[in-house]
Amino acid sequence: MQFENTRAYAASLDRQDELLKYRNEFIFPKVNGNDVIYFTGNSLGLQPKNAKKYVDEVMQDWAELAVEGHFYAEKPWWDYHERLAAPLARVVGAKTDEVTVMNTLTVNLHLLMVSFYNPSAARFKIICEEKAFPSDQYMLASQVRFHGYDPKEAIVEIKKRPGENFWREEDVLAKIEDVGDELALVLIGGVNYYNGQVFNMKAITQAGHKAGAIVGFDLAHAAGNIKLELHDWNVDFAAWCSYKYMNSGPGNASGIFVNQRHLGKKDIPRFEGWWGHNKDRRFLMEPEFDPMPNAEAWHLSNASILSFAPYLASLKMFDEVGMDALVEKSKLLTSYLEFILKEVDKNVDASFEIITPEDRGCQLSVFLHGKGREIFDYLMKNGVIVDWREPNVIRLAPVPFYCSFEDMFTFGEILKKGLTS
Ligand SMILES: *Cc1c(COP(=O)(O)O)cnc(C)c1O
Repeated sequence: MQFENTRAYAASLDRQDELLKYRNEFIFPKVNGNDVIYFTGNSLGLQPKNAKKYVDEVMQDWAELAVEGHFYAEKPWWDYHERLAAPLARVVGAKTDEVTVMNTLTVNLHLLMVSFYNPSAARFKIICEEKAFPSDQYMLASQVRFHGYDPKEAIVEIKKRPGENFWREEDVLAKIEDVGDELALVLIGGVNYYNGQVFNMKAITQAGHKAGAIVGFDLAHAAGNIKLELHDWNVDFAAWCSYKYMNSGPGNASGIFVNQRHLGKKDIPRFEGWWGHNKDRRFLMEPEFDPMPNAEAWHLSNASILSFAPYLASLKMFDEVGMDALVEKSKLLTSYLEFILKEVDKNVDASFEIITPEDRGCQLSVFLHGKGREIFDYLMKNGVIVDWREPNVIRLAPVPFYCSFEDMFTFGEILKKGLTS
């Protein structure tokens, strides 16, 4: 497609965009009286207008019904979470049974590690990407120590090549083969939070299984961003947060995926609680744990309904639109942003560099060569919300649900002014 760097052209792309109307379904913060250009949906998605309605409904039921809300609310609380499973399964490419919502992301990764990291003296190593998200690093190291191994020996990081900004697929697969018989688990962020790279999860899963290992993914930056086929890729387990691309609200509930072949097992190592118990017998308060036949077997506590309500509101929109349409727009919008950045770069030569590789979702990470922090501050003051990562990177996520092509053009104009003044 031959892009043009004009407002009229950007507006014409907006007119052809079938998802443009969804922009109206979100609440934008304002700077200087105008809606911001929001590039940080990969950190905290905007608030869907219908989120409040879903939260208010729970508040109302609580006020009017109190404890009776568990069974007699408009959407009864005791099985409220079940409403999220089917639409969420469609977002991540799973069977409904394989998906549920509970807790928060790092908590869920720990719980899933209990089931899927079972090291032995011969097979105890974990492969992850170098500089994984800090919480994942702490999680992995503490799990390894918990089992009595040394993180320095047990955790094998896949490195980027010197001078390169991304991981090469052949290096990832070679490392898996290399660690081979000693490999217990591969756990990688499906989309890297820093450079926006999408890993080939299908190939990684195949390679991991060939080595006799379990394969899991942290999908914090993937869920609601790229097309996932967790079931068909044969991934063992995954977890993600819902407040980034999934627009559920700050710190809100996390989703998990457990492959069907691991479901319905009583002998799998697992931390257990009453909400994972057979729901038909849950209130008989029996002493012996009888796991739910689906991913809910990993539930511990009764559900935090107030955090599920906005998630459900958001999922309703994902279901209406579907990941295919979102991904289609995301690709075009991200390409247009890339084009705009290159146009700006023509005017102010060698001032920055895009470090996101071709395998990407909806994020471009830009390394600023000259002014760094000043440009970030300038953008924020001028109504462009971006995020800053040390040492000199701004991340831009043009989220297809609520960003427009005209936003990209306007951003380019603002950036050019900031770099040349
Ligand atoms: C955002 C993010 C997290 C956050 O974890 P929480 O437990 O929700 O605070 C973890 N891992 C990755 C890769 C992330 O991008």
